[in-house]
Amino acid sequence: MDELLNLYGEMGISPAVYAYGEKTLEKIADRFAAIDQVAEYNQAKVLRAFHKNRIAATCFAATTGYGYNDEGRDKLEQVYADVFHTEAALVRPQITCGTHALTVALSANLLPGDELLSPVGAPYDTLQEVIGIRPSPCSLAEYGVSYRQVDLLSDGTFDYEGIREAINEKTKLITIQRSKGYATRPTFSVKQIGELIAFCKAIKPDVIIMVDNCYGEFVETIEPSDVGADIIVGSLIKNPGGGLAPIGGYIAGTRHCVDRCAYRLSAPGLGQEVGANLGLMPALYQGFFLSPSVVASAEKGAIFAANLYEPLGYKCVPNATESRHDIIQAVELGSEKAMIAFCKGIQAAAPVDSYADPIPGDMPGYDSQVIMAAGAFVQGSTMELSADGPIRPPYAVYFQGGLTWHHAKLGILMSLQKMVDAGIVTL
Ligand SMILES: *Cc1c(COP(=O)(O)O)cnc(C)c1O
Repeated sequence: MDELLNLYGEMGISPAVYAYGEKTLEKIADRFAAIDQVAEYNQAKVLRAFHKNRIAATCFAATTGYGYNDEGRDKLEQVYADVFHTEAALVRPQITCGTHALTVALSANLLPGDELLSPVGAPYDTLQEVIGIRPSPCSLAEYGVSYRQVDLLSDGTFDYEGIREAINEKTKLITIQRSKGYATRPTFSVKQIGELIAFCKAIKPDVIIMVDNCYGEFVETIEPSDVGADIIVGSLIKNPGGGLAPIGGYIAGTRHCVDRCAYRLSAPGLGQEVGANLGLMPALYQGFFLSPSVVASAEKGAIFAANLYEPLGYKCVPNATESRHDIIQAVELGSEKAMIAFCKGIQAAAPVDSYADPIPGDMPGYDSQVIMAAGAFVQGSTMELSADGPIRPPYAVYFQGGLTWHHAKLGILMSLQKMVDAGIVTL
């Protein structure tokens, strides 16, 4: 493949980096085959929901104003509910991001005097202000919702004794974050989440279990809603938007919980009946349709990155060989300098803003400086090839996305090249 080497060479990737990448790929062919099998199953699952709901070109029509009788919107929500095996779903461009979707789900289902429990340690950074762990106007704490947290044990497993003690008469909702987020704990498999749910429900059968499903959708053949979660929540500029959704979030679950979320999102009495689709239906449908294979591409990129960096001495979470339950790859780079070099590579490989130079900066919702590399069609989309991380020990970059496997590959090779160029890595 001399032409490819030449082309990569023109883009700055050296023959040594390319060769190291090819050698890495030979080791992971079986993993790629397994990912393709999951994608094939999930593709069929999505397609069957399209067929069942008789999706037609009329579903793509734009609505404006109140958005009454919006058939495209209603059917899309039914497609989500069918794929996730839930009674109902709320899938809306009016949900601005994942944090917003989670905020709606929490504030709709928790009332003053109720307690929220996280049995899996601290939740994602942005949720800390939502809950009021870091004081913030309009937090749940301000509205009289208390919060309790049980940390994971040192080996990353659930502290069942601690959880049993933490569940009390006030515990109304238990939130379980599937993905590690910006922590270096393992991401939970759906099976593990199911075990935790069963444990909690045995102690308190009527407790509502919410799973923050961000980055997890379609990585496995089952979702947390298949193992007892009452509500699952995610962002459309991550997995289920398939890279095409320009905005949005979803909440899928029991009719009771989803109704309350709809009343919280719009207004009591209005609920799911209002909310114009603003012409976004084609992107939301097509993105969901593409999602299983986009997720597979991203997952291949994540596995490639772990297998590329781990032999060079960098701790990877998940490691090079373990099974995957989300699309995120953390690579502990050990220094700010290495984080910057890595992110420069991801940025340089982007289809958009490839000439930009990522530098650490302050971000709303995060308590340390963050570096982000993304040159995305949808601004801030982490379904597209991107890397980010807070500038604090262990100086881990969280690498994710890639609309196509070949782009993910090129981006990861470029990150390594920048590390080599900066004298941080020698091959
Ligand atoms: C991304 C993410 C969120 C928040 O989503 P935003 O769209 O960034 O607001 C919440 N939880 C987890 C685990 C995430 O990965």
